Parts: sequence; C-alpha cells; structure tokens
Amino acid sequence: MTTDTRCVLASNNAHKLAEIREILADRFEHIYSLKEMGISVEIEETGSTFAENALIKARRIRELLPDCAVVADDSGLCVPCLGGAPGVYSARYAGEPCDDNANNALLLRNLREREKTHPRDRRAYFVSNVALIDADGNETVGEGRVEGEIIDEYRGDGGFGYDPIFLCSALNKTFAQASSAEKNSVSHRARALSDLKRKLGL
Ligand code: IMP
Repeated sequence: MTTDTRCVLASNNAHKLAEIREILADRFEHIYSLKEMGISVEIEETGSTFAENALIKARRIRELLPDCAVVADDSGLCVPCLGGAPGVYSARYAGEPCDDNANNALLLRNLREREKTHPRDRRAYFVSNVALIDADGNETVGEGRVEGEIIDEYRGDGGFGYDPIFLCSALNKTFAQASSAEKNSVSHRARALSDLKRKLGL
C-alpha cells in the first residue's frame, strides 16, 4: 500500500469533513475539501445504491485530480415499512433544493398515512457508504448502518437532516440530542469508515 499524503473529500460538508478527517487521521496526514483544492463541480448522483453513488462521486473527482487519493461518501435514511424510502433520495425526498424540514415533514406525513391502514412500524436505519480511491487508483468501499426509529415530535437542536426525528436505539436519544462525540461513537458514517479501514488492513 502506498502512503498517500494528499487526499481530498468529494464534499464541502463541514460535518462530514471533520468526522472523516478525525477517523482517517492515521492514514492521511490531511484530507482536503473540494474548496481547498479549488474545485467546484456538480456531480449528479445517478446510482441506485449508496455504494454506486459514493463511487460516482469519487471517480469524478479523481478525473479532475488524478494524483490525489479521493474519499467520497453517500448516505441516507431507510424506512423498511416505506419500501426503504427515502433511501438514495434522502437529500431531495421532498424535492429540490434539499430542505431538511420539508423532508422530515413529508416522511412523517407518509408514515401517518400508511398507519391509517397498517399497523405502526417506525423502524429505520441510516446507511453510509464511503469509497476510497487511493493514489494508485485502487477502489475500496466501506459500509455502516445505525438502527433506530422515527418519532413524531422533533427532539434536540443539534445535527442536520433527519437527526431530530431519528431516535437512535444505541443512544436512546435522537441524533439531534446527541453530542457530536456520542453520534460519532455509533454513526453510520463512523461505522462505514471503520469498515473501510478494516478492508484496508488499518
Ligand atoms: P449525502 O450523503 O450528502 O447525499 O446526504 C444524504 C442525505 O441523507 C442528507 O441530506 C440527509 O438528509 C440524510 N442524512 C445522511 N446522513 C445523515 C445524518 O447523519 N443525520 C441526518 N440525516 C442524514
């Protein structure tokens, strides 16, 4: 394995950047954001799985930065009783542009609508896939999940996305109520990064 020193994350999301930098610190001296690398690009997530989308993003950035290692993640919320929705459409569940409040409201509306004719089933899980293309072009994908349930009221004001309505089973609080250290100790992204590191032999 080469000891890549330059690595870029195919995202400008500050939450993800901090989390991924911390967890991959022993593999890469520094992980740059796209902005730090002077790259501004819209990448269409046309895959039907989280892994495909993570690889689409990583490959696109590597075309632009062929000497760099690239990390890309794709994540979302899956609700089994809704056929796995919002799934890969998590960011734009209620339409474009991404609106967390509208997404949460639509998810609760769809669950309540279903409950008019079906027994209540609020199980849900977050999934993350993290793809790494190293400086030699080798591709590795890690996957992580975290289980919980969707609650009717919004609890907590931290985090982002579906965090206020996702009651994490392991923490017994919503992700929006959890500190970032608590969330990172169980999160889908942290688990996907652990899986990735395991696959890389780290
Ligand atoms: P992407 O991985 O940047 O495409 O984001 C997918 C979408 O999934 C986000 O916009 C959120 O709606 C949702 N999501 C992914 N991870 C989390 C999380 O940790 N908390 C809350 N929502 C998340």
